Amino acid sequence: MLEDKNQERTALEQLGEFGLIDHLTQHISLTQKSTVRGIGDDAAVLDFNNKKTIVTTDLLIEGVHFDLSYMPLKHLGYKAVMANLSDVYAMNATATQITVGLAVSNRFPLEALEELYAGIGLACKVFNVDLIGGDTTSSTTGMLISITALGEADEANIVYRDGAKPNDLLVVSGDVGGAYMGLQVLEREKAVFKVNPNTQPDLSPYSYIVERQLKPEARKDIVELLKKLEVKPTAMIDISDGLSSEILHLCKSSKVGCNLFEDKIPLDPTVISACEEFKIDSTLVALSGGEDYELLFTVAQDDFEKIKGNPNMTVIGHMTEESEGAHLVTRGNAKIPLTAQGWNSFEKE
Ligand code: ADP
Ligand code: MG
Repeated sequence: MLEDKNQERTALEQLGEFGLIDHLTQHISLTQKSTVRGIGDDAAVLDFNNKKTIVTTDLLIEGVHFDLSYMPLKHLGYKAVMANLSDVYAMNATATQITVGLAVSNRFPLEALEELYAGIGLACKVFNVDLIGGDTTSSTTGMLISITALGEADEANIVYRDGAKPNDLLVVSGDVGGAYMGLQVLEREKAVFKVNPNTQPDLSPYSYIVERQLKPEARKDIVELLKKLEVKPTAMIDISDGLSSEILHLCKSSKVGCNLFEDKIPLDPTVISACEEFKIDSTLVALSGGEDYELLFTVAQDDFEKIKGNPNMTVIGHMTEESEGAHLVTRGNAKIPLTAQGWNSFEKE
Protein backbone atom coordinates (compact mmCIF):
# COMPACT_ATOMS: atom_id res chain seq x y z
CA MET A 1 0.00 0.00 0.00
CA LEU A 2 3.02 2.27 0.33
CA GLU A 3 4.41 1.57 -3.12
CA ASP A 4 4.16 4.41 -5.60
CA LYS A 5 4.04 3.00 -9.13
CA ASN A 6 5.41 6.20 -10.66
CA GLN A 7 8.60 5.99 -8.68
CA GLU A 8 11.87 5.30 -10.43
CA ARG A 9 13.18 1.78 -10.11
CA THR A 10 16.88 1.37 -10.72
CA ALA A 11 17.82 -2.32 -10.82
CA LEU A 12 20.60 -3.21 -8.38
CA GLU A 13 22.57 -5.09 -11.06
CA GLN A 14 23.11 -1.76 -12.82
CA LEU A 15 25.37 -0.70 -9.95
CA GLY A 16 27.00 -3.92 -8.89
CA GLU A 17 27.92 -4.62 -5.28
CA PHE A 18 30.65 -2.01 -4.92
CA GLY A 19 28.73 0.64 -6.81
CA LEU A 20 25.80 0.00 -4.49
CA ILE A 21 27.93 0.26 -1.34
CA ASP A 22 29.53 3.48 -2.60
CA HIS A 23 26.16 4.91 -3.51
CA LEU A 24 24.52 4.10 -0.18
CA THR A 25 27.40 5.30 1.95
CA GLN A 26 28.59 8.34 -0.03
CA HIS A 27 27.11 10.88 2.40
CA ILE A 28 28.27 9.22 5.59
CA SER A 29 30.26 11.52 7.83
CA LEU A 30 32.20 10.60 10.96
CA THR A 31 31.93 12.50 14.20
CA GLN A 32 32.99 10.18 17.03
CA LYS A 33 36.41 10.71 18.54
CA SER A 34 36.77 6.94 18.89
CA THR A 35 36.39 6.37 15.11
CA VAL A 36 39.88 6.28 13.61
CA ARG A 37 38.88 4.80 10.24
CA GLY A 38 35.37 4.07 8.93
CA ILE A 39 34.05 2.68 5.66
CA GLY A 40 36.46 1.96 2.82
CA ASP A 41 39.15 -0.35 4.08
CA ASP A 42 39.06 -4.03 5.00
CA ALA A 43 37.95 -3.11 8.49
CA ALA A 44 37.20 -0.06 10.60
CA VAL A 45 39.66 1.08 13.26
CA LEU A 46 38.46 2.31 16.65
CA ASP A 47 40.24 3.70 19.67
CA PHE A 48 38.31 3.79 22.91
CA ASN A 49 41.31 4.90 24.96
CA ASN A 50 40.83 3.70 28.52
CA LYS A 51 37.05 3.17 28.22
CA LYS A 52 35.27 -0.16 28.14
CA THR A 53 33.77 -1.14 24.78
CA ILE A 54 30.15 -2.28 24.52
CA VAL A 55 29.07 -4.47 21.55
CA THR A 56 25.62 -5.72 20.56
CA THR A 57 24.08 -7.25 17.41
CA ASP A 58 20.52 -7.71 16.17
CA LEU A 59 19.31 -9.60 13.11
CA LEU A 60 16.04 -8.62 11.44
CA ILE A 61 14.36 -10.79 8.82
CA GLU A 62 11.56 -9.75 6.49
CA GLY A 63 8.36 -11.63 7.27
CA VAL A 64 9.59 -12.51 10.76
CA HIS A 65 10.55 -9.16 12.31
CA PHE A 66 9.07 -6.70 9.86
CA ASP A 67 6.36 -6.49 7.23
CA LEU A 68 7.08 -4.10 4.38
CA SER A 69 3.39 -3.80 3.45
CA TYR A 70 2.97 -1.27 6.26
CA MET A 71 6.51 -0.54 7.34
CA PRO A 72 8.04 2.19 5.15
CA LEU A 73 11.70 1.38 4.46
CA LYS A 74 12.89 4.65 5.93
CA HIS A 75 11.18 3.76 9.20
CA LEU A 76 12.60 0.26 9.05
CA GLY A 77 16.13 1.63 8.78
CA TYR A 78 15.54 3.99 11.68
CA LYS A 79 13.92 1.33 13.86
CA ALA A 80 16.64 -1.24 13.15
CA VAL A 81 19.21 1.23 14.47
CA MET A 82 17.01 2.07 17.49
CA ALA A 83 16.71 -1.57 18.50
CA ASN A 84 20.50 -1.77 18.68
CA LEU A 85 21.20 1.55 20.34
CA SER A 86 18.60 0.68 22.95
CA ASP A 87 20.75 -2.30 23.99
CA VAL A 88 23.79 -0.04 24.37
CA TYR A 89 21.82 2.46 26.49
CA ALA A 90 20.55 -0.42 28.62
CA MET A 91 24.19 -0.90 29.69
CA ASN A 92 24.19 2.77 30.77
CA ALA A 93 26.71 3.38 28.00
CA THR A 94 27.12 5.88 25.15
CA ALA A 95 26.49 4.49 21.65
CA THR A 96 29.28 5.48 19.26
CA GLN A 97 29.29 3.38 16.07
CA ILE A 98 27.21 0.92 14.05
CA THR A 99 27.87 -1.49 11.23
CA VAL A 100 25.11 -2.63 8.86
CA GLY A 101 24.87 -6.06 7.24
CA LEU A 102 22.37 -6.15 4.44
CA ALA A 103 21.04 -8.94 2.21
CA VAL A 104 18.47 -8.05 -0.47
CA SER A 105 16.76 -9.83 -3.35
CA ASN A 106 16.47 -8.25 -6.81
CA ARG A 107 12.88 -7.37 -5.93
CA PHE A 108 14.31 -4.23 -4.31
CA PRO A 109 15.39 -1.38 -6.58
CA LEU A 110 18.11 1.08 -5.63
CA GLU A 111 15.48 3.62 -4.60
CA ALA A 112 14.18 1.26 -1.91
CA LEU A 113 17.64 0.89 -0.40
CA GLU A 114 18.13 4.64 -0.55
CA GLU A 115 15.03 4.95 1.63
CA LEU A 116 16.37 2.35 4.05
CA TYR A 117 19.66 4.22 4.27
CA ALA A 118 17.87 7.54 4.71
CA GLY A 119 16.36 6.07 7.90
CA ILE A 120 19.67 4.58 9.03
CA GLY A 121 21.45 7.87 8.32
CA LEU A 122 18.85 9.91 10.19
CA ALA A 123 19.13 7.66 13.23
CA CYS A 124 22.93 8.01 13.17
CA LYS A 125 22.65 11.77 12.96
CA VAL A 126 20.04 12.20 15.69
CA PHE A 127 21.81 9.83 18.09
CA ASN A 128 25.32 10.92 17.14
CA VAL A 129 26.72 7.54 16.08
CA ASP A 130 29.06 6.81 13.16
CA LEU A 131 28.22 4.26 10.46
CA ILE A 132 31.64 2.63 10.08
CA GLY A 133 31.08 -0.39 7.86
CA GLY A 134 28.98 -3.34 6.96
CA ASP A 135 28.48 -5.99 4.35
CA THR A 136 26.18 -6.24 1.37
CA THR A 137 25.04 -9.37 -0.37
CA SER A 138 22.14 -10.78 -2.36
CA SER A 139 19.34 -12.87 -0.95
CA THR A 140 17.02 -15.23 -2.82
CA THR A 141 13.94 -14.26 -0.86
CA GLY A 142 13.45 -11.03 1.04
CA MET A 143 15.47 -8.56 3.00
CA LEU A 144 17.73 -9.22 5.96
CA ILE A 145 19.32 -6.54 8.10
CA SER A 146 21.89 -7.17 10.75
CA ILE A 147 23.12 -4.19 12.73
CA THR A 148 25.94 -4.20 15.23
CA ALA A 149 26.25 -1.27 17.60
CA LEU A 150 29.30 -0.28 19.59
CA GLY A 151 29.45 1.95 22.59
CA GLU A 152 31.72 3.14 25.35
CA ALA A 153 31.51 3.62 29.07
CA ASP A 154 33.73 4.01 32.09
CA GLU A 155 33.83 0.69 33.87
CA ALA A 156 32.35 2.22 37.02
CA ASN A 157 29.24 3.41 35.16
CA ILE A 158 28.27 0.19 33.38
CA VAL A 159 24.99 -1.27 34.62
CA TYR A 160 24.38 -5.00 34.24
CA ARG A 161 21.22 -7.03 34.73
CA ASP A 162 22.50 -8.72 37.84
CA GLY A 163 22.83 -5.90 40.36
CA ALA A 164 19.29 -5.55 41.73
CA LYS A 165 18.89 -6.02 45.51
CA PRO A 166 15.78 -6.73 47.61
CA ASN A 167 13.95 -3.45 48.42
CA ASP A 168 15.35 -1.67 45.34
CA LEU A 169 12.69 0.26 43.45
CA LEU A 170 11.63 -0.97 40.00
CA VAL A 171 11.39 1.92 37.53
CA VAL A 172 10.31 2.17 33.90
CA SER A 173 10.88 5.07 31.49
CA GLY A 174 8.08 6.51 29.34
CA ASP A 175 5.01 4.34 28.85
CA VAL A 176 4.47 0.79 27.63
CA GLY A 177 2.15 -1.17 25.33
CA GLY A 178 1.98 1.49 22.62
CA ALA A 179 4.10 -0.31 20.02
CA TYR A 180 1.99 -3.45 20.34
CA MET A 181 -1.32 -1.60 19.97
CA GLY A 182 0.11 0.33 17.01
CA LEU A 183 0.88 -3.00 15.40
CA GLN A 184 -2.71 -4.15 16.00
CA VAL A 185 -4.02 -1.05 14.22
CA LEU A 186 -1.62 -1.53 11.28
CA GLU A 187 -2.48 -5.24 10.97
CA ARG A 188 -6.18 -4.39 10.94
CA GLU A 189 -5.74 -1.76 8.24
CA LYS A 190 -3.69 -4.21 6.20
CA ALA A 191 -6.54 -6.74 6.37
CA VAL A 192 -9.07 -4.07 5.39
CA PHE A 193 -6.86 -2.99 2.50
CA LYS A 194 -6.64 -6.58 1.21
CA VAL A 195 -10.45 -6.73 0.93
CA ASN A 196 -10.84 -3.22 -0.47
CA PRO A 197 -7.68 -1.64 -1.92
CA ASN A 198 -9.48 1.66 -2.52
CA THR A 199 -9.93 2.46 1.16
CA GLN A 200 -7.74 5.13 2.70
CA PRO A 201 -7.30 4.38 6.38
CA ASP A 202 -7.66 7.27 8.81
CA LEU A 203 -4.93 6.55 11.31
CA SER A 204 -4.98 9.99 12.95
CA PRO A 205 -6.70 8.87 16.18
CA TYR A 206 -3.95 6.27 16.49
CA SER A 207 -0.98 8.44 15.57
CA TYR A 208 0.78 8.03 18.92
CA ILE A 209 0.67 4.23 18.97
CA VAL A 210 1.35 3.85 15.24
CA GLU A 211 4.40 6.04 15.71
CA ARG A 212 5.47 3.94 18.70
CA GLN A 213 5.42 0.93 16.37
CA LEU A 214 6.96 2.54 13.27
CA LYS A 215 9.32 5.10 14.78
CA PRO A 216 10.45 4.12 18.27
CA GLU A 217 13.11 6.24 19.96
CA ALA A 218 15.86 4.61 22.00
CA ARG A 219 16.13 6.25 25.45
CA LYS A 220 19.52 7.93 25.23
CA ASP A 221 17.87 10.81 27.08
CA ILE A 222 17.18 8.61 30.11
CA VAL A 223 20.82 7.56 30.38
CA GLU A 224 21.77 11.24 30.27
CA LEU A 225 19.04 12.18 32.75
CA LEU A 226 20.13 9.53 35.25
CA LYS A 227 23.68 10.79 35.00
CA LYS A 228 22.51 14.35 35.64
CA LEU A 229 20.45 13.22 38.64
CA GLU A 230 23.47 11.28 39.89
CA VAL A 231 21.53 8.06 39.98
CA LYS A 232 23.29 4.87 38.95
CA PRO A 233 20.73 2.09 38.53
CA THR A 234 21.60 -1.16 40.28
CA ALA A 235 20.37 -3.18 37.27
CA MET A 236 18.97 -2.28 33.85
CA ILE A 237 17.49 -3.85 30.70
CA ASP A 238 15.67 -2.45 27.68
CA ILE A 239 12.09 -3.45 26.95
CA SER A 240 12.11 -5.24 23.62
CA ASP A 241 9.87 -8.19 24.50
CA GLY A 242 7.43 -6.86 27.09
CA LEU A 243 7.56 -5.68 30.67
CA SER A 244 6.89 -9.08 32.14
CA SER A 245 9.66 -11.01 30.44
CA GLU A 246 12.17 -8.19 31.06
CA ILE A 247 11.28 -8.09 34.77
CA LEU A 248 11.83 -11.83 34.95
CA HIS A 249 15.25 -11.40 33.29
CA LEU A 250 16.24 -8.85 35.94
CA CYS A 251 14.94 -11.09 38.74
CA LYS A 252 16.70 -14.18 37.44
CA SER A 253 20.05 -12.45 36.80
CA SER A 254 19.96 -10.59 40.12
CA LYS A 255 18.56 -13.52 42.11
CA VAL A 256 15.72 -11.45 43.55
CA GLY A 257 11.93 -11.46 43.50
CA CYS A 258 9.64 -8.56 42.71
CA ASN A 259 6.23 -7.00 43.30
CA LEU A 260 4.91 -5.14 40.27
CA PHE A 261 1.86 -2.96 40.95
CA GLU A 262 -0.75 -3.07 38.20
CA ASP A 263 -2.10 0.41 38.98
CA LYS A 264 1.36 1.96 38.62
CA ILE A 265 2.08 0.72 35.06
CA PRO A 266 2.29 3.83 32.83
CA LEU A 267 -0.12 3.65 29.89
CA ASP A 268 -0.80 6.38 27.35
CA PRO A 269 -4.53 7.26 27.02
CA THR A 270 -4.34 6.18 23.35
CA VAL A 271 -3.22 2.72 24.47
CA ILE A 272 -6.13 2.48 26.90
CA SER A 273 -8.71 3.50 24.30
CA ALA A 274 -7.22 1.18 21.65
CA CYS A 275 -7.33 -1.69 24.16
CA GLU A 276 -11.01 -0.97 24.77
CA GLU A 277 -11.68 -0.91 21.04
CA PHE A 278 -9.78 -4.16 20.40
CA LYS A 279 -11.21 -5.72 23.59
CA ILE A 280 -7.76 -6.57 24.96
CA ASP A 281 -6.76 -6.17 28.59
CA SER A 282 -4.40 -3.18 28.82
CA THR A 283 -2.34 -4.79 31.59
CA LEU A 284 -1.80 -7.85 29.40
CA VAL A 285 -0.67 -5.56 26.57
CA ALA A 286 1.72 -3.71 28.88
CA LEU A 287 3.17 -6.95 30.21
CA SER A 288 3.40 -8.92 26.98
CA GLY A 289 3.46 -6.43 24.10
CA GLY A 290 7.00 -5.78 22.91
CA GLU A 291 9.07 -3.25 20.98
CA ASP A 292 8.56 -0.24 23.24
CA TYR A 293 12.34 0.20 23.67
CA GLU A 294 11.87 1.84 27.04
CA LEU A 295 14.38 1.25 29.82
CA LEU A 296 13.51 -0.85 32.87
CA PHE A 297 15.82 -0.43 35.84
CA THR A 298 16.17 -0.74 39.58
CA VAL A 299 17.45 1.93 41.95
CA ALA A 300 18.33 1.90 45.63
CA GLN A 301 15.61 3.28 47.96
CA ASP A 302 18.01 6.11 48.86
CA ASP A 303 17.75 7.43 45.31
CA PHE A 304 13.96 7.79 45.45
CA GLU A 305 14.10 11.51 46.26
CA LYS A 306 16.18 12.13 43.14
CA ILE A 307 13.76 10.49 40.71
CA LYS A 308 10.48 11.22 42.50
CA GLY A 309 7.93 13.06 40.36
CA ASN A 310 10.09 12.99 37.23
CA PRO A 311 7.69 12.76 34.27
CA ASN A 312 10.12 10.55 32.32
CA MET A 313 10.10 7.67 34.76
CA THR A 314 7.62 5.80 36.92
CA VAL A 315 8.21 3.63 39.96
CA ILE A 316 6.14 0.50 39.23
CA GLY A 317 7.21 -1.82 42.02
CA HIS A 318 10.04 -3.05 44.20
CA MET A 319 12.36 -6.00 44.40
CA THR A 320 12.02 -8.66 47.10
CA GLU A 321 13.90 -11.70 48.35
CA GLU A 322 14.24 -14.31 45.61
CA SER A 323 12.23 -16.81 47.64
CA GLU A 324 9.18 -14.53 47.45
CA GLY A 325 9.01 -14.87 43.66
CA ALA A 326 7.95 -12.35 41.00
CA HIS A 327 4.37 -11.14 41.23
CA LEU A 328 1.85 -8.78 39.75
CA VAL A 329 -0.17 -7.07 42.48
CA THR A 330 -3.53 -6.35 40.83
CA ARG A 331 -5.83 -3.37 41.38
CA GLY A 332 -7.95 -5.73 43.48
CA ASN A 333 -4.86 -6.50 45.59
CA ALA A 334 -4.51 -10.09 44.35
CA LYS A 335 -0.95 -11.41 43.97
CA ILE A 336 -0.46 -13.25 40.70
CA PRO A 337 2.83 -14.89 39.58
CA LEU A 338 4.41 -13.15 36.58
CA THR A 339 5.22 -15.32 33.58
CA ALA A 340 7.10 -14.43 30.40
CA GLN A 341 3.73 -14.27 28.62
CA GLY A 342 2.33 -11.76 31.09
CA TRP A 343 0.99 -13.52 34.10
CA ASN A 344 -0.32 -16.93 34.95
CA SER A 345 -4.05 -16.40 35.25
CA PHE A 346 -4.61 -19.97 36.42
CA GLU A 347 -2.33 -19.81 39.42
CA LYS A 348 -3.71 -17.45 42.07
CA GLU A 349 -2.23 -17.23 45.50
P1 ADP B 1 35.06 -6.87 2.12
O1 ADP B 1 35.09 -7.51 0.77
O2 ADP B 1 36.39 -6.67 2.74
O3 ADP B 1 34.04 -7.48 3.03
P2 ADP B 1 33.29 -4.92 1.13
O4 ADP B 1 33.62 -4.68 -0.30
O5 ADP B 1 32.16 -5.80 1.46
O6 ADP B 1 34.60 -5.37 1.87
O7 ADP B 1 33.05 -3.52 1.81
C1 ADP B 1 33.81 -2.38 1.48
C2 ADP B 1 33.60 -1.34 2.54
O8 ADP B 1 32.25 -0.96 2.58
C3 ADP B 1 33.94 -1.84 3.94
O9 ADP B 1 34.45 -0.75 4.65
C4 ADP B 1 32.61 -2.25 4.50
O10 ADP B 1 32.60 -2.18 5.88
C5 ADP B 1 31.68 -1.22 3.85
N1 ADP B 1 30.31 -1.71 3.62
C6 ADP B 1 29.92 -2.79 2.93
N2 ADP B 1 28.58 -2.94 2.92
C7 ADP B 1 28.10 -1.91 3.64
C8 ADP B 1 26.80 -1.49 4.03
N3 ADP B 1 25.68 -2.16 3.67
N4 ADP B 1 26.67 -0.39 4.80
C9 ADP B 1 27.78 0.29 5.18
N5 ADP B 1 29.01 -0.03 4.86
C10 ADP B 1 29.20 -1.12 4.09
MG1 MG C 1 32.08 -7.54 2.45
